[in-house]
Amino acid sequence: MNMDEYKTVKCGLVGGRHALPVDQYIWDSAEMVGDPMNRRQLVNHIDFVMPKVVETIEVYVTGMTPCLLALVNWCWTNGVTLVTYQWNMVKEEYVPNVEMRFDVCPFCGGRRDHGVWYCPHCGST
Ligand SMILES: [Zn+2]
Repeated sequence: MNMDEYKTVKCGLVGGRHALPVDQYIWDSAEMVGDPMNRRQLVNHIDFVMPKVVETIEVYVTGMTPCLLALVNWCWTNGVTLVTYQWNMVKEEYVPNVEMRFDVCPFCGGRRDHGVWYCPHCGST
């Protein structure tokens, strides 16, 4: 993946599996993923390919659950909104079906679910 500092990144999770309406992938191929059980390696890879400034990742998903979980982990750690697109067999098109938004607590820097004022880390409201 080769991107400038976009605030919204639109990409595929793993390339070379299905035709996706994107030309950038977090992993260009399944071979690039390496050991799917090595979560640290997966998260480090995401760290490496993502631009420094990113607010939202819109990702097309076609399996590879360990990669998706690593991406959820990465988005949580970095306070980045994650929207996943998956194939809808009825509409025969990719539709957004999960959106995870994480807010950063202004007091302790911890993550919390979007729109929730109570911080589970420091207790501030
Ligand atoms: Zn807090």
